[in-house]
Amino acid sequence: MKLYSTKNPKVFYSLKEAVLKGLPDDNGLFMPQSIPKLPNTFFEGIKGMSFTEVAFEMAHGLIGDSIPANDLLQIVESSVNFPAPVISLSNDIKVLELFHGPSLAFKDFGARFMAQLMSYYNDSDEPLRILVATSGDTGGAVAAGFLNTPGIEVVILYPSGKVSDLQEKQLTTLGGNITALEVDGTFDDCQHLVKQAFLDKELTSKHRLSSANSINIARVIPQMFYYVEAYKQLSDKRKPLVFSVPSGNFGNLTAGLFAKRMGLPVSQFIAATNENDIVPKYLKSGNYEPRPSVRTLSNAMDVGAPSNFARMLDLNCSTWNIMKDEITGYAYNDMATKKGIAEVWNQHDYVIDPHGAVGYLALQDYMKENGSVNGVVLETAHPSKFLDTVEEVIGKQVEVPERLAVLNDRTKVAIDMSIRFKDFKEWLI
Ligand SMILES: *Cc1c(COP(=O)(O)O)cnc(C)c1O
Repeated sequence: MKLYSTKNPKVFYSLKEAVLKGLPDDNGLFMPQSIPKLPNTFFEGIKGMSFTEVAFEMAHGLIGDSIPANDLLQIVESSVNFPAPVISLSNDIKVLELFHGPSLAFKDFGARFMAQLMSYYNDSDEPLRILVATSGDTGGAVAAGFLNTPGIEVVILYPSGKVSDLQEKQLTTLGGNITALEVDGTFDDCQHLVKQAFLDKELTSKHRLSSANSINIARVIPQMFYYVEAYKQLSDKRKPLVFSVPSGNFGNLTAGLFAKRMGLPVSQFIAATNENDIVPKYLKSGNYEPRPSVRTLSNAMDVGAPSNFARMLDLNCSTWNIMKDEITGYAYNDMATKKGIAEVWNQHDYVIDPHGAVGYLALQDYMKENGSVNGVVLETAHPSKFLDTVEEVIGKQVEVPERLAVLNDRTKVAIDMSIRFKDFKEWLI
């Protein structure tokens, strides 16, 4: 497998370089030079395969001989080790539950696979230190993904008092190779400290530092597996297959486009957003106008400049006309989101989270305009991560899974950190 930067298709990088660097020097995004199509027999015979087998065949198809098959199988087995079940709400509407991993969000797939790949490529005796700034959710998935990964230490910086109690517990109670720094500042301060560390010649020459950037190609690759896993589970595959993807940075939807390029018979993708509707607007008008994000109930999608947009463009020959044929966009405000949660509960007896609700609403609107389909809504987080909103709407207690509930009894361990780079650097050394 070779990769290029979206800003320069003429220079190629190895998968190892792309994974360890995260971003190319020209600030583009890494893209596979080719996305090979899997044979029809793979999709025809998929019924009898396990999720791990599906994931391995896709990973192997894309990555090729860059990683020997036995090693790749091990990487897949240690990262794709929880299910992605399809739940049927009605004849037309299915929900793909992506929250069965350790942090109860779909980001677990990306974080775990990236951790495994980084560890595989980390061929030095000196530990690789991953610096992550988080505003809440990503940090939990990354921390859980890297926990106990040999040769890797993770330092998580989070803004003191600005993440939820549960999120803080997800960051500060793991121990082992995960260290949490509670920064006396904002998320931007945390991000600034991390950026300064990468620019500091003394630090980078003495220590092996890396980032667990959300646009690392290693996070996109495993996200294509579950689109195919969903297809596998559909009992009737005759109607057009439509995925509705609640989106923020659009890594998830980009992975769906990858899966389609590999041969998955997808009829349409739906880009479902909250009021941060930059991509739905682009799909309607052809004008891409990023702007500062606004806060919503589906806060993991509060993104004003979607970082994977460059990949979506690249996959569509940088042409609006082509992209709007394969992706339809819809956006919803918080009031509509609450209505969506209520409707799914009242009509289908299913508790959906605010992100999934946005996807559900978009699928409904798509079907109003296009008729009945095989519709799959990606449920990106467990509803118990958004207890206040969900319980207020459905008027009933939401069951909190054991792996989240146990965090309440654990003791927070974090190191206080100022926003001065000098302090952070001293601590790192
Ligand atoms: C990160 C996240 C999203 C958005 O995913 P993107 O790949 O950034 O589009 C949606 N829902 C939840 C729960 C998330 O954590």
